[in-house]
Amino acid sequence: MLHSVINERKRMKYTIVGFPRIGEHRELKKATEAYFRGDKTAQELQDTVCQLRIAQWEKLRASGAAQIPSHDFSLYDGMLDTAWMLNAVPEKYTRLGLDDTGTYFAMARGYQGERGDVTALSMKKWFNTNYHYLVPELEKNTRLSLNHTDFLASYEQAKGLGIETRPVFVGPFTFLKLAHCDHDKAHFVQPLIEAYAELLRLASRHGVQWVQLDEPSLVMDLTQEDIALFRTLYDGILAQRGEGGTKVLLQTYFGDVRDCYAELLSLPVEGIGLDFVEGKQTAQLIAKYGFPEDKILFAGVVNGKNVWRCRYAAVLEQVRSLRQCVREIILSTSCSLLHVPYTVANEPQLPAEVLPHLSFAYEKLQELAELCRLAELPDYTQDSSFQSNVALHSSGSLYPNPDVQQRVANLTEEDFTRPTPRRERQALQRKQLLLPLLPITTIGSFPQTDSVKRTRSHLRKGEISAEEYEKLVRAEIKRCVTLQEELGLDVLVHGEYERNDMVEYFGENLAGFIFTRNAWVQSYGSRATKPPIIVGDISRKQSITTPWITYAASLTNKPMKGMLTGPATILNWSFPREDVPGSVSMYQIALALREEVLELEANSIRVIQIDEAALREKLPLRRADWHSEYLDHALRAFRLCHSGVQPGTQIHTHMCYSEFEDIIPEIDAMDADVITFEASRSKLTILRALVQSHFETEVGPGVYDIHSPRIPSVTEIAAALKMMLRDIPADRLWVNPDCGLKTRNLPETIAALKNMVHAAVCVRDTLR
Ligand code: GLN
Ligand code: ZN
Repeated sequence: MLHSVINERKRMKYTIVGFPRIGEHRELKKATEAYFRGDKTAQELQDTVCQLRIAQWEKLRASGAAQIPSHDFSLYDGMLDTAWMLNAVPEKYTRLGLDDTGTYFAMARGYQGERGDVTALSMKKWFNTNYHYLVPELEKNTRLSLNHTDFLASYEQAKGLGIETRPVFVGPFTFLKLAHCDHDKAHFVQPLIEAYAELLRLASRHGVQWVQLDEPSLVMDLTQEDIALFRTLYDGILAQRGEGGTKVLLQTYFGDVRDCYAELLSLPVEGIGLDFVEGKQTAQLIAKYGFPEDKILFAGVVNGKNVWRCRYAAVLEQVRSLRQCVREIILSTSCSLLHVPYTVANEPQLPAEVLPHLSFAYEKLQELAELCRLAELPDYTQDSSFQSNVALHSSGSLYPNPDVQQRVANLTEEDFTRPTPRRERQALQRKQLLLPLLPITTIGSFPQTDSVKRTRSHLRKGEISAEEYEKLVRAEIKRCVTLQEELGLDVLVHGEYERNDMVEYFGENLAGFIFTRNAWVQSYGSRATKPPIIVGDISRKQSITTPWITYAASLTNKPMKGMLTGPATILNWSFPREDVPGSVSMYQIALALREEVLELEANSIRVIQIDEAALREKLPLRRADWHSEYLDHALRAFRLCHSGVQPGTQIHTHMCYSEFEDIIPEIDAMDADVITFEASRSKLTILRALVQSHFETEVGPGVYDIHSPRIPSVTEIAAALKMMLRDIPADRLWVNPDCGLKTRNLPETIAALKNMVHAAVCVRDTLR
């Protein structure tokens, strides 16, 4: 048996799950935004898209990929494209009567104009990545069917260039699991089967050799009903296939398929894509249950999500053992390369010692090609590129700091614990800070006006000196403090004018981070971010915020709140190291922040907010891993930041979402004194849940939505507060907006805050 497997062994080939699409120089962003402004026609936008797609295929062809994906491209989002393809277009969008491009973008971004006023589809995080997808909306009268077949156009276009591509789609199971639906989803199963069966027939008729159906939802914890749904969908779709038509690659990623491996294997598909990077049990599943002779294994061995060079030795060893039991293997990425930047070649300014360690999308293609070559050698250990990869990985950590390592190793339970019980602290703080009932505050940032941005860009370009810059920022801070005093807020902020971004600013002041110039990664639609890269042990280089905060505090008698970004958020919005666990970096960041917290306190700052905007984002996909792999560390790291302060010093935290009903005790265990969070768009069911779990942290559920330019009225804010008071005792409730105000303009902000203060004061009066 073993003998025959080896005898018919196929030459090693490679492919990828998907490619970035924003363009090496963010061409897609520029083109779509020009289209939104009316500076480009739909046709001109399509022309840019066309060029980007061709560039991607040519790149993949040149690099020697055996199979090249197409239709992994999207003007805005792949999930939106699937909804569009399947005719899941809610009535409020069709009713606008726009052309196709207009309707598509109305779903993506909302529409406000002569034809009506509709909000966009909602947006959610794509599994455990920092990418956001649009949530398809299935209405009672939605008729799912194969409505748009744009994939054929790109397939034919590539074909015209002599490139056979593998069109990529979100699969029916993931589509249905992630779609929002107010009634029974069962109703959509049969139409979905028909639509995908039709899709496969159409692909067959056009001579498409392979299609890829992405099913990342299969790596989640699955119930028996989920598995049954998966079977029904695929049995239904695949039963309609004729002989010899288009082959199907069922692609999974972001974890392993331990709950449905047997079901997957029994499907009559020609290829199965498994993740060997995040899929902790993938190799084990294959070793234990085998892999069918009649299928190709698309082995996701190169990390599609992080920016580090692959470890050839580990991958080749893996391949060697897979070859014992799998007939044909095609090497691939662990997930789409959508989540990494284009190329290290655009970052020549990075330190020379870091560069050889980095691998973005283009470099990952080279790695895959090289791995294929090495896998065919009788003894790859003699190959020089293998040897230099081994040498690279055995050269030790970049920028080690033994002192920081020691400090983390020496941490004890005491370092994570504030000695005084929270209830006692809270009473003391109210007294010392002279806070009224329903204290009024904001989340930190004030509008980043053009002049603020210009000042920063002048400094970056060296057009103004550091002293001039500081003077200008101080002037902004002063205006901000005066404004808050006039408005009558109780706990003031300095406005965060010195920050371009809440993570980047901190990274720049910490050793162990590097910053790229062009390494953009799509966040959603036309938005991209440039995450910092953690390259070494982390420590505080200098005071990060103290000079700004103490200056702001000197301008008022009211409490001034110091503003920091928390350890989980800094880690989650950066590319992490691979040579140490994320928890180690998180503790190192926490130690650095702890120094900052203590310095603020020593400078008489008595209220300190540590934002954990992204705490929930990296919650592992499987519940069994929530605590051991993530929450235990994230909570301890947070407590490490603040456990050294006096009982009278009030620690706040802020989160950008209210969907934490499933982790309420954990949020309370951060042991903050106050938490503010987004609430105006949610149904506030969270408040009842907080009471039921005896939540001790004081709460400031946002009373208005800062993502909209709308000015909330006094009446509606007062009503919101009264509603909150039904669940939250008056002496534990704070009044604040949903989130930071930096994206709003000044007039909107002033009008909204005025109404907020007015409403709070009125409600406060009724409580006396
Ligand atoms: N303090 C930050 C601000 O106000 C918080 C931002 C956030 O939660 N995303 O901008
Ligand atoms: Zn927020």
